Amino acid sequence: MEEVDLVIIGAGPTGLFATFCAGLRDITSVTLESMNTYGGQIPTLYPEKTVYDVQGIPRIKAQDLADKMYEQSQLFHNKIQFNSNVTDIIPTNDKKFIIEVNNEKSYTCNVVLLCSGIGRFSPTKLGAVGESEYDGKGVFYAVKSIEDFRGKKVMIVGGGDSAFDYANMIEPVASKVIISQHNENLKAADSSINTFKKSKKATIMLNTEVKEIIGDGNNLTKLRIVNTSNNNTEELDIDALIIAIGHKAVINTFKSIKLEVVNRYIKVDGDYKTNIDGIYAVGDVANLTDQPKFALIAIGGAEAYSAINNIKKYLAPTAPRFGGHSSELNI
Ligand SMILES: Cc1cc2nc3c(=O)[nH]c(=O)nc-3n(C[C@H](O)[C@H](O)[C@H](O)COP(=O)(O)OP(=O)(O)OC[C@H]3O[C@@H](n4cnc5c(N)ncnc54)[C@H](O)[C@@H]3O)c2cc1C
Repeated sequence: MEEVDLVIIGAGPTGLFATFCAGLRDITSVTLESMNTYGGQIPTLYPEKTVYDVQGIPRIKAQDLADKMYEQSQLFHNKIQFNSNVTDIIPTNDKKFIIEVNNEKSYTCNVVLLCSGIGRFSPTKLGAVGESEYDGKGVFYAVKSIEDFRGKKVMIVGGGDSAFDYANMIEPVASKVIISQHNENLKAADSSINTFKKSKKATIMLNTEVKEIIGDGNNLTKLRIVNTSNNNTEELDIDALIIAIGHKAVINTFKSIKLEVVNRYIKVDGDYKTNIDGIYAVGDVANLTDQPKFALIAIGGAEAYSAINNIKKYLAPTAPRFGGHSSELNI
């Protein structure tokens, strides 16, 4: 098991800034993120929106902000590990913690900083017959590599920005791309829809639902589709299905510890300590007061800064609480 001073849970805006601050204070850390990317709520809920309320940045596209935050987090090369869902935090007799990642004991650390926001994101499932059987065998919830779709006849379920973004991404390599939407409302940006419609390989099927995913055990080969306006059923030969109907956040519970939670927030004190010695929490997951929280990127960042400096003092009681202004550094 790898040993570090600090495990940061979550690589959303708060966890990314905490990662940078840990490097600034010379704390060895690993940041564990359950998704395959950074930015937390940004890439999953509003990548294309513009953000105006981060100090010193008058306007920026949300995904570009996430990219900048990731770049900043890596200034001191503190490790970030994706696809790493923290499933338990186990206190040891010598005041350390064992961190279970994807149900396997993976790290020991002295301090844990929870930056887990509104929870662990996972893609919304369609609920079609055969969906879990063919997950990874032709059923996808995101496009990680466009090469997965080369030469393939692909159906994408969903009518939002993600569905059309994926459609336009894979269109150059796929042999055919069909968008299937359960009603007549396409919510994606007009520009994406128009780009898609211009392709000879593109089809949009409205009022359709995928009811069954059929295959040979190794790969999906067909989809059974229902037309919701007349209940007609048909089977289509399809090589890959991308389900792009959003994500849901699952609130964390760690079975080996009992964190104090008030109104869904982890209760923290003025040092951002939870009720458990050695465990801190900041950002959208934590609250210092009983008032509703200002859930904002800048607030999580300020909290992360304070928490990391308190953590430094916890790890090294003789260290100064404030590490100095970054403008004094020569990096
Ligand atoms: C539509 C929308 C628009 C917004 N616009 C703005 C805006 O304009 N300005 C602004 O300041 N704020 C805005 N916000 C709020 C802002 O996005 C949040 O305040 C911010 O994302 C909180 O960051 P966080 O890192 O604390 O939490 P999150 O962004 O929720 O990130 C938490 C991360 O932790 C990960 N995680 C959770 N549990 C685990 C686990 N067990 N193991 C591993 N990883 C885990 C999650 O996958 C996630 O990546 C907006 C929010 C929404 C939904």
